[in-house]
Formats: sequence, C-alpha cells, structure tokens
Amino acid sequence: MEDLRQLEGFLGDRDFCERWRAIKQANKRDLAEYIAVHNGETVNPESLFDIQVKRIHEYKRQHLALLHTIALYNRIKHNPDLEMVPRTVIFGGKAAPGYYMAKLIIRAINNVAHVVNRDPDVRDRLKIVFLSNFSASLGQRIYPAADLSEQISTAGKEASGTGNMKFAMNGAMTIGTLDGANIEIREEVGAENFFLFGLTTEEVVALKHADYRPGHYYEQNAELKEAMDRLASGYFSGGHSDLFRPLVDSLMYRDEYMLFADFQSYLDCQEQVDRAYRDRDRWVRMSILNTARSGKFSSDRTIQQYCDEIWDVKPVPIQVDSYTQTSAGIHEV
Ligand SMILES: *Cc1c(COP(=O)(O)O)cnc(C)c1O
Repeated sequence: MEDLRQLEGFLGDRDFCERWRAIKQANKRDLAEYIAVHNGETVNPESLFDIQVKRIHEYKRQHLALLHTIALYNRIKHNPDLEMVPRTVIFGGKAAPGYYMAKLIIRAINNVAHVVNRDPDVRDRLKIVFLSNFSASLGQRIYPAADLSEQISTAGKEASGTGNMKFAMNGAMTIGTLDGANIEIREEVGAENFFLFGLTTEEVVALKHADYRPGHYYEQNAELKEAMDRLASGYFSGGHSDLFRPLVDSLMYRDEYMLFADFQSYLDCQEQVDRAYRDRDRWVRMSILNTARSGKFSSDRTIQQYCDEIWDVKPVPIQVDSYTQTSAGIHEV
C-alpha cells in the first residue's frame, strides 16, 4: 500500500487527473443509481457527495451533520436564489435495538429528507438520503463514491475509527475533529488536505468542568437557534411538535457530546469545503493526495506491527497449494 505514494508523481499530469475525476464521477453515478432504485430519489452526480456512514450514536454526532443540513435549508428559504455548491448529504448506519435516541436520530434524518427533498424552493441544491441496511457490501458502493467523509465525533470519544481510513483511501476529503485515527490521517495526508474543526480533547474536558451551558450557544448563535427551532416546531413532523422533543431537550439542557460548542466551527469549516470543491483542479489534487498518502492504513502494515511490537511472533512457512479460497473464506482441502 505504501507504493500508492508513487501517485504523487502524476499530480502534474492533466490526463491522469482528468481520468481520476472521471472514475470518481462514475462511482458517484453508480451510487446515484442505487439511490434511485432503493430510495426513489433522483440525486445529481455533479453535486458534492457528503457522506456519513457508521453506527448511529450520539457521540458520532449524525445530528450535528443534520443540524448543518437544516441550516443550509434555512439559508435557501431566506434567499431562494442563493448560489451554493449543490450537496447530496448521505447517511447510513444501524442503531442498536434498544438505543431509543439513535432511532430518533434516524427518524429525524428521514423526516428532514422528506420535507427538504420535496420543497420546490430547494431545486437541485440540496438532497438528503438515508440508506437503510448499511453493511460491508453497501460500503463497497458508498466509500468509493464519496467526495466528503464526515468524521465528526466529539474529540476524545472515538477509539480509532476505520471508516475514516476507507474514505481517505478512496480519495474522499475528510471533515473531522482531532479524534481517533483522524489525527493520524491528518498527519499523513497533510493539514492542507484535511478539513479540521472543533474542540480538542483537552478543551472538551475543560469545558465540561467549567459548567457547560448549551443554552448559551443556542441564544448567541442565530443559525443554531433557527435550526433547533425548526426541528422543535413540528415543521419536519407534520405539525407533531412532540416527536423530536427528547432529541431537542437532550441537546438544549445537557448536550453531553457538545454539538452546540462545535456548531459554528463546523459551519465555518463546511464553507471551506465548498470553496475547495468549487476549484475543480484543487479538489482533484487533494483527492489524489489523500489516496497516495493513506498507505499507512493498510491492514498488512497494522498486523505486521502487532506481530513485531505486541505479539512477538515470527512468520511460519505454509504449503499454499493445500488451501483454496472460497467466497466463504479459506478452507483447507
Ligand atoms: C467500516 C465500517 C464501520 C465502521 O465505521 P466507522 O466510521 O469507523 O465507525 C461500520 N460498519 C461497516 C459496515 C463498515 O464497513
């Protein structure tokens, strides 16, 4: 995988860069086709594919990405002629059977999608998709089709993450916090090829100890207030304003994962993403660099390092032709 570095030698090759872009576009068209079949939704393959797929959990903050999406929707409602980078915001992931709040987040994503995708004011600028039954097989379609990888957990909460690596290898840019393997990905690909936002682990701990008041952020930030008010109002639930109350209240009165503290930083960072995406050549260059510099995240390297540093085991020769590989795994014959 480290040989991927040789791709850096092609950054100045226009044909290579154009081919790179064409492959990404073909992957996006394939996913768009899947979405048409499974969600009955038409998405524009030229739009920025902004993707968050992983288990649904409050610490992973799918609802932070959803609040950003609602804020974009509010901007369009205020200014129907708004010129913006068209986005397709794609979510996928499962909730544990007994995790009520995670299921409510899935409900919120689907309800917001239902309203936004049908609003004639939005036109082709914003689309929201929730892909059900996220799995490794579906992942094989999703990761290669991503422009932007959402890795937005509260700093200090994600042990490593592996989805972040899959996206980077497939030439997606990361928007992320300094959490888990995002830190090493940023070191590898270079700070200028990574969209960083949010509090550090130390700042999260300090703010927790310093009497964190989410209501303060809500009162001070007009876009946050408007997004939360829209969610609480019943606008996305057919006037049924109680539906998202538990989600709204948990943010307003506790916000354990500090979405409100990171909200403005996240919005500002998303504007940097838009600026970079508008510059086609710059984006392709960044995409190539993400792939070229992600060799470190190979499982071969990882296992080798475990062998050397932790397990202290050495290779053992085996008779290769006495094994056969099947789709179900490796079987001795
Ligand atoms: C990679 C992967 C995950 C882990 O994703 P994270 O973003 O690291 O949480 C979960 N489920 C599936 C199906 C995956 O392929």
